[in-house]
Amino acid sequence: MLQNAPKNTPENAPENAVEIRGLTKVYKAQGKGAEKQALTDLNLDIPRGSFFGLLGPNGAGKSTLINILAGLVLKTSGTARIWGHDITGATRAAKRAIGIVPQELNIDPYFSPLEMLEVQAGLYGVPEDQRRSAEILEAVGLSDKANSYARTLSGGMRRRLLVAKAMVHSPPVLVLDEPTAGVDVELRRQLWTYVRELNEQGVTILLTTHYLEEAEELCDRIAIINHGKLIACDETKNLMGKLDNKRVTVMLTEDLGEIPESLKRFNVNLIDARELEFCYQPSRVQSSEILAAVQDAGLTFAELATKEPELEDIFVQLTSQPDPGQPDPGQPGTGQPPA
Ligand code: ADP
Ligand code: MG
Repeated sequence: MLQNAPKNTPENAPENAVEIRGLTKVYKAQGKGAEKQALTDLNLDIPRGSFFGLLGPNGAGKSTLINILAGLVLKTSGTARIWGHDITGATRAAKRAIGIVPQELNIDPYFSPLEMLEVQAGLYGVPEDQRRSAEILEAVGLSDKANSYARTLSGGMRRRLLVAKAMVHSPPVLVLDEPTAGVDVELRRQLWTYVRELNEQGVTILLTTHYLEEAEELCDRIAIINHGKLIACDETKNLMGKLDNKRVTVMLTEDLGEIPESLKRFNVNLIDARELEFCYQPSRVQSSEILAAVQDAGLTFAELATKEPELEDIFVQLTSQPDPGQPDPGQPGTGQPPA
């Protein structure tokens, strides 16, 4: 546990940890490459204390946004404030308020994790008596590697070391840019346990990912961007409520001639003699309800598979909703995405 993680006292804590207004980025043409508009007039508020997901496919502009906040990429226009500090007007204060775990696993191979954290603490001017490198390494499960060469660390360990490095100056905002790429399931769990703990202590988390499932599981709010534009931004449960196309496939142990009457209240298709596919709205129906109905119908199943909506489906769905503020006018319970 981190003892002196920042406390959000009302005097110094702004309502939004990050505020982005009209943010635009155009990468200038280089060589034969054309000009690239990576962000277009983006507005985004990240509430203090939230676990915020920035979701979008590869090339959506997530890293560009993060790198602008980090001071690594220059914005073309618009403004961004971190903890109330303008990134151009108050660069130093803005940088002190944020810790960034970059997408690339750039680690100096000849430093040990402990040295790396000490160097980072020095860069941020953290006084020696306030450093807590050992404690941070313990929190990310790297105590036993504290004095090993970084080059001996696995991918998952490197990722956690980068999280540790980002937390050295106790920033109130921690940003993780696609942190689970190349991290196996076990280490991913560890990483999330730690990041959740930080969030519970009051650290605002901004996580970018192209996995809907990951964002859904972790984040209380999700913004979706595509081609540099904001498509949706809502509480996770509201957003998931708009995405009405989860599917579960049930493989049966015996052939089925037709769909039993009792199952017809669901949106169900017989894919083949032994395979039923249910489309359902997670906001209205639980998959357990479907499975209970399958069993009640006297069927036994050999295997189950759930299918999350693809990001592309989500974009089609969200951008085809004329007014996201209005309740879904579609027939309840059909499980059909709006036309
Ligand atoms: P994401 O992180 O969501 O995958 P990026 O922010 O990395 O997206 O990229 C957004 C777009 O900007 C992409 O089309 C990418 O090719 C382009 N891009 C990113 N960095 C540069 C750069 N340094 N120069 C030119 N284009 C870039
Ligand atoms: Mg990226």
